[in-house]
Amino acid sequence: MQDRIEKIKEQLHNASYKLTPQREATVTVLLENEADHLSAEDIFLKVKERAPEIGLATVYRTLELLAELKVVDKINFGDGVARFDLRKEGAKHFHHHLVCMHCGSVEEIEDDLLEDVEKKVENQFKFQIVDHRLTFHGICKKCAAEGITIDSLKSNKISE
Ligand SMILES: [Zn+2]
Ligand SMILES: [Zn+2]
Repeated sequence: MQDRIEKIKEQLHNASYKLTPQREATVTVLLENEADHLSAEDIFLKVKERAPEIGLATVYRTLELLAELKVVDKINFGDGVARFDLRKEGAKHFHHHLVCMHCGSVEEIEDDLLEDVEKKVENQFKFQIVDHRLTFHGICKKCAAEGITIDSLKSNKISE
């Protein structure tokens, strides 16, 4: 974990920013919750446990800065909440997500499944690709084992 903080510190330094204690507290929370996809408010509440004097605006600014420096990716799973996701070390592209429509769990796919698709898009549309977002919406393994089906999701929606 200390290494990761050092690397992020270097990324900040290269862009002429300092790793202030508030920024370090935010980065630490992101690292400790790497498997989660937290909103700015979630992150703020956790940062506050480490640095009680910190304000929400500071955490917001830090997250925006980290997003600009590609330390985190900002992502939205369609529920209107912006979430912050640490970029995997050395990853050129943003990892993919499997979002369960029943329990809301989010699984990550680190392999880049889009290399061929990107080549096609670049050739066909003469579009130079920097990055992509890929989110699959459906039913996770666990929910499927409990008998949740896509049809049962649909009938729930209608009866709501
Ligand atoms: Zn993720
Ligand atoms: Zn599920």
